[in-house]
Amino acid sequence: MSDKKIDIAENLENIKKRINDAEIKSGRKAGSVKLMAVSKFHPVEQIKQAVDNGQFLFGENRVKEACEKFTELYEYNPQVHLHIIGQLQSNKVKNAVKISECIQSVDRIELVDLIEKNCAAINKQIKILFELHTGEESKSGFASLEEIENVMEMFVEKKYPHIIPAGFMTMAPFTDDKNLVRKSFITLREASLKVKKDFPEYAQSLSELSMGMSGDFEIAIEEGSTLVRVGTAIFGERDYQ
Ligand SMILES: *Cc1c(COP(=O)(O)O)cnc(C)c1O
Repeated sequence: MSDKKIDIAENLENIKKRINDAEIKSGRKAGSVKLMAVSKFHPVEQIKQAVDNGQFLFGENRVKEACEKFTELYEYNPQVHLHIIGQLQSNKVKNAVKISECIQSVDRIELVDLIEKNCAAINKQIKILFELHTGEESKSGFASLEEIENVMEMFVEKKYPHIIPAGFMTMAPFTDDKNLVRKSFITLREASLKVKKDFPEYAQSLSELSMGMSGDFEIAIEEGSTLVRVGTAIFGERDYQ
């Protein structure tokens, strides 16, 4: 795999073109979908190539890896932004809020409490997305919309002054069944509409719909994604050694 030549600049161009085509096809405004480059397992040198080609938004799954790589990358180019997108253990929250500007993989209320506590300690505001479990095969995310609405009640009560609830995230099931994938994205969109309707004072804040990866981002855009998380199609296969 490592002997296959990966042209990151060319891959980025291709993905952006495909995002643009999907926006047009689904009647969305050109440029309304953000591209996140998921750089987990890829070395700093490759990420710098993406940065040099105008890619500034990145996603990492593991906090330790993110800290090791992005301390250097923030210095390399201050325009770099990082979101944490992987399941987050409680003992990693402290470093996660330090290194990132958004935690997309918020899947339980205790995590929100911990994010608030750790942000307060360093006087930082951070964005979060609520990850919703929308497909049988994926295991992460809040199991129900009710749990997310319970957290939103806490926002109404001003319990989380250092957190901005910025939207929703999901992972579609790993399947070739495009209908199941689409169903998962529709579930997230409808969930977001429901929460925004029930918490109108947060409707504007809850604007992000993070859905779509290398294999399914066009379907996600058709279903309203505002941010696609693309790894393999930019950096190539990951080497999990
Ligand atoms: C790895 C990962 C991605 C990117 O997946 P690709 O199929 O490589 O594009 C997106 N989102 C999350 C949460 C991931 O863990």
